[in-house]
Amino acid sequence: MDIQILPLTSPKSRPADESQLGFGKHFTDRMFVMEYAAGKGWHSACIQPYGPFSLDPACAVLHYAQEIFEGLKAFRREDGSIALFRAIDNVRRFNRSAARMCMPEVDEAFFHEAIRQLVRLEADWVPRSAGTSLYIRPTMIAVDPFLGVHPSDTYLCYVILSPVGAYYKGGFSPVKIWISDEYVRAALGGTGEAKTGGNYAASLKASREAAARGFDQVLWLDAEQRRYVEEVGSMNMCFVIDGKVVTSPLRGTILDGVTRRSILTLVRDLGVEVEERALAVDEIFDTIAAGRMTEAFGTGTAAVVSPVGQFTYRDRTATLGSGEVGAFTLKLYETLTGIQYGRLPDVHGWVERL
Ligand SMILES: *Cc1c(COP(=O)(O)O)cnc(C)c1O
Repeated sequence: MDIQILPLTSPKSRPADESQLGFGKHFTDRMFVMEYAAGKGWHSACIQPYGPFSLDPACAVLHYAQEIFEGLKAFRREDGSIALFRAIDNVRRFNRSAARMCMPEVDEAFFHEAIRQLVRLEADWVPRSAGTSLYIRPTMIAVDPFLGVHPSDTYLCYVILSPVGAYYKGGFSPVKIWISDEYVRAALGGTGEAKTGGNYAASLKASREAAARGFDQVLWLDAEQRRYVEEVGSMNMCFVIDGKVVTSPLRGTILDGVTRRSILTLVRDLGVEVEERALAVDEIFDTIAAGRMTEAFGTGTAAVVSPVGQFTYRDRTATLGSGEVGAFTLKLYETLTGIQYGRLPDVHGWVERL
């Protein structure tokens, strides 16, 4: 399938102050769009000016949330070139999410190339200041104008781009976590492993309550026993206990994070053991009290690594370290961002130049 490139009639002005970019507020001039119809497959692939869609008010995504998305980044390197980080892994996960949500898969090589082509056309929008990047948001929505609950026969797949600011503008400081014993994010057999909108809509109430109590993020426990750690906010969670890195296993309820996988590889590269196993809330408090847990952090594309300084569960609060970021967390953050921005060698072949 060829990608038709439509002319850009009225380019926007780019945000002048890269220190004010924030996250997901600005969008570039162009977007990639393709359509799907049952019996016909994907068609009408196009890179066109960024702008609103006209959707039937009855269309399936607006009622039953049949939708998926992805999140990845392009980085401006010191020599001015642009690189994508592990994009093919995001394309593959997009297809795994599609399969879970009864949506059509995309051709991986084609979609990967479409993303590359879009970012290449929008290269000027990749910011240059330290810590900034271009966030890439592939999305697929169900567009049958029909109120019956069933998988749609028609879909729209698109990719939009957003220049984003440095995540740690105010410094790299540990966050406070609220462990929820009331709300859960995902249950076994549910959609926790898919990047699908409903999971995030369902998480908003807990996030709002946590914020009202002065916490930065919610840590989700398993739905069956409300006992074992799953994820934190929309990040995977790692703990450093007895000098080993402990993280929840992938059992269908948590996202298989590209950052999680990358960090676990770097941990092993450093000669540190990784344990993918269930970790109970009690173990967090017990190992902190015993001085055996030394560091904890979340992992995800937006933050890369987010250090945790405090956990609260019911009426118990435990503080990790002295309010500073742990040396191991910092080392992992510096290594992964070093690879992404081209300051360190890419020994695992994660970076592709455009
Ligand atoms: C996207 C996401 C992650 C992190 O995945 P990355 O590929 O590392 O960005 C973790 N948990 C949830 C719930 C997510 O949506």
